Amino acid sequence: MGRLRVAIVGAGIVGCAIARELSRYENLDVVVIEREPDVGWGATKANTGIVHPGHEEDPDQHPLRARLCVEGNRLWREWARELDIPIKFPGELMLFFSEEERKRAQRFVELAKRNGVPEVRIVDGEELRVLEPAASPRAIGAVWAPTAGVVNPIQAAIAMIENAVDNGARLLVETEVKRVRVESGKVVGVETSRGFIEADIVINAAGINADEISASAGIDTFRIWPRKGQYVVFDRLAQPKPTRVLHTVPTPITKGVYAVTTTEGNLMIGPTAEDLPPDRKRDTSTTREGVEYVLREGSKLLERIPPRRLVIKTFAGLRPEPTTRDFVVEAYQKPWGLINAAGTRSPGLTAAPAIAKLVAKLIAEELGVELVEKRGWRRFRRGIERVRDAPWPKLVELVKRDPMYGWIICRDEMVSAAEVIEAVKRIQRIGARVTLDGVRFRTWLGMGRCQGSFCRVATAMLLSKVLGVKPFEITLRGKGSEYAVGDVKALWRERLGERRT
Ligand SMILES: Cc1cc2nc3c(=O)[nH]c(=O)nc-3n(C[C@H](O)[C@H](O)[C@H](O)COP(=O)(O)OP(=O)(O)OC[C@H]3O[C@@H](n4cnc5c(N)ncnc54)[C@H](O)[C@@H]3O)c2cc1C
Repeated sequence: MGRLRVAIVGAGIVGCAIARELSRYENLDVVVIEREPDVGWGATKANTGIVHPGHEEDPDQHPLRARLCVEGNRLWREWARELDIPIKFPGELMLFFSEEERKRAQRFVELAKRNGVPEVRIVDGEELRVLEPAASPRAIGAVWAPTAGVVNPIQAAIAMIENAVDNGARLLVETEVKRVRVESGKVVGVETSRGFIEADIVINAAGINADEISASAGIDTFRIWPRKGQYVVFDRLAQPKPTRVLHTVPTPITKGVYAVTTTEGNLMIGPTAEDLPPDRKRDTSTTREGVEYVLREGSKLLERIPPRRLVIKTFAGLRPEPTTRDFVVEAYQKPWGLINAAGTRSPGLTAAPAIAKLVAKLIAEELGVELVEKRGWRRFRRGIERVRDAPWPKLVELVKRDPMYGWIICRDEMVSAAEVIEAVKRIQRIGARVTLDGVRFRTWLGMGRCQGSFCRVATAMLLSKVLGVKPFEITLRGKGSEYAVGDVKALWRERLGERRT
């Protein structure tokens, strides 16, 4: 077998992790096809960001999920270091409030043993409050899982795709895959909104739409429905901010509600777990009931909850829930060349690097492709240098090197014009479309108290200069979301001109 063309459908955390992993191999030409203008805009941008330890997964009910979660937790440490991804490992406390809940919580200690998750144990109320002073005094104890982490999920996807492209993979955005084309029992490519793309192997990482992509190739063995999760995010100054991840005891359908301090330093509470009909795969609206529910649950977890006026954002994500309950990561002989990386409900973020490794294994073992390691594969990637994180001497050095570091565009998050310009360069380098949201996710501009009310105009003007386009051609998130409708002063000048004549 010579070089093989590999098409990955979907640039969420799973597609980006697979692209990174497959970019190691000399004999694979990898293209990632994404319908949105940029990467990570599906479930990847709207979740709790927990790198789960794996003690909540029942290996009898969903063995693949259990295995890949534990393996993923281990791999994140390596990948985050290599790719400069914002991450921390504070550990998590599953709080219980009654003897009945203690009994239910005990089960997770046993699952931890079965799944090989280290150091999971029950702590009593006294030790709980030493581990986390911000925890509710009403909690009588907790399951302590020290290997839990918190990651910035969309920045992780961006880091992975940057590294994959650096190693030769390609990204095609604003390209929707309509169906997989199969001829004589083999995958031959994908039909897209921009025409046919030939491929010997198609990897389906389409998240919420993965059932439709799979069915189009003749594998119609599972369905995916959306399960909505709503969140509230508090201002960075709001207290208390727990050091550990806190959450309630999971139910059969959800891992419970979390109170977590994000990698960026905001208290975030959520999610809800609301099953939606399959035709609402784009419904990421938030509701009053959802927000009230997470605030109520959050106030059970914390000794006190910050005042509501400090909520700066609400948002929702959709879990791609499969009818199989377990992840569907498998290769097929009929049609040869199709690999599903589907059913990626929680803990799909945690499992993403392990799913990527498994996909490479399936290509080698199930499809019989001998994978040849690339010489000079680039393992490392650096993130954008940030004013916010820079100590004073470093800041001086940055401004000396590039005065644009001295122009602070977003004061809440301390983001400079230099970071915006660097984000634009990186978006262009991976082949995505430059949008205000794309810049926001890379720099964290506009994510603070004012949510962009002050900095967005300045950013749009800067982008228009850098890109050489009119300000009203700058979009929030691609075609149809133009930030402005026209240049008011130009219109005014025209009018004045008219009057003078
Ligand atoms: C509320 C909530 C909380 C969660 N919390 C956690 C957590 O704390 N820890 C954890 O481990 N997991 C968590 N998860 C799960 C995690 O977010 C998902 O498992 C993960 O993001 C799935 O990634 P993905 O790449 O499979 O899907 P997505 O991120 O949805 O990516 C799929 C991509 O495919 C694209 N696409 C779809 N159809 C097509 C098409 N036809 N053509 C081209 N492109 C297409 C989409 O635009 C999208 O970009 C949570 C999920 C939710 C919603």
